[in-house]
Amino acid sequence: MKTRIQEKFKTLFGKEGQLYMSSGRINLIGEHTDYNGGYVFPGAINFGIMAAIEPNGLNKVKVYSLDYDEYVEFGLNEEDKPDQAWARYIFGVCRETIKRGGKVQGFNAVFAGDVPLGAGLSSSAALESVFAFAINEINGNGIDKFELARIGQSTEHNYCGVKCGIMDQFASIFGKEGALMRLNCKTGEYKYFPFHPKGYKLVLIDSCVKHELASSAYNKRRESCENAAAAIRKNHPEVEFLSDAKRLWLDEVRDQIPEEDFLRAEYVIGEVQRVLDVCDALERDDYETVGEMMYQTHFGLSRLYEVSCEELDFLNKLARKMDVTGSRVMGGGFGGCTINLVKEELYDAFIGAAKEQFTAKFGHAPKVYDVVISDGARKL
Ligand code: ADP
Ligand code: MG
Repeated sequence: MKTRIQEKFKTLFGKEGQLYMSSGRINLIGEHTDYNGGYVFPGAINFGIMAAIEPNGLNKVKVYSLDYDEYVEFGLNEEDKPDQAWARYIFGVCRETIKRGGKVQGFNAVFAGDVPLGAGLSSSAALESVFAFAINEINGNGIDKFELARIGQSTEHNYCGVKCGIMDQFASIFGKEGALMRLNCKTGEYKYFPFHPKGYKLVLIDSCVKHELASSAYNKRRESCENAAAAIRKNHPEVEFLSDAKRLWLDEVRDQIPEEDFLRAEYVIGEVQRVLDVCDALERDDYETVGEMMYQTHFGLSRLYEVSCEELDFLNKLARKMDVTGSRVMGGGFGGCTINLVKEELYDAFIGAAKEQFTAKFGHAPKVYDVVISDGARKL
């Protein structure tokens, strides 16, 4: 990738550029907790986006996407927004940097990546982060890392029409090799935890399914959570978000809210605790407990929160049957990947069976991504 990028940069701009890199991410546990003020537990991965960048002394950005084989030029004012979707991420990062008082001089860039698009690994956050990081360095802006993540998030909100939380950009910017990060979505506090699963592999199986109902279902889940939190708040005013509630407090209001809202809240309160339990387990290198919590999360997402689907339940059940240590649907649900913690000696049998049986049942093959927890945004 490095060579391809530098060769293209040389062809277009006459010399080599400075290389930067950022990463996609996984979330080990902590699903649908972000908007409930709970924890998420992501890490950056060994799939990323690399860019060669150099200031060009102009008031304009010249950028080439190797993967799309497309060249785009744009100015740095609001009205210069490019038409190409991929270029809007870069334009958005420039604009959001300027809005925060940062300097953005024109630059030349060539970039490419290997984060699968739309598979739930956040290729868009990798793209925003590599440019946010590089632009900050090149211009000596000194914007802190959390604000760089917010630049990526605001780019999604204001230039790409995606109202996302902060997790993806946070993970991409803050990621460290061999470490997961527990982020408190209410306070922004975070802590690194070691992740060295010796003898295990972390593997994603992409069902390649995308269900259309995902966004309306998502809004309904949020409503249920807010409704449950409001009922609990009457007894316990300190409950700002559902994640602040104790399980017992939920039981107190069981007959005051629809059963559906109760089940959704039961999942969320359990999930917040599971993140803490996984963190404790990691400090003891206890990957069996980590795996068991992943199964519990899958059960909750499937039966209580009801955001799984037949394909994902199938993969999860197969994992359990084959003694895979941990498995769960990753991301918002209704499709996408399962994330699996697998003993090395089981890996080939499990992946072989998953491919074969999934294809036989659903008529298309799943995709498989081996992931390693890696560094996030950096200069190479
Ligand atoms: P994801 O879940 O992977 O973040 P999104 O739909 O949010 O999926 O973002 C994918 C978009 O990000 C692509 O359509 C493209 O515009 C941009 N993108 C991601 N990776 C690349 C890449 N390697 N080259 C160019 N654009 C990319
Ligand atoms: Mg995205």
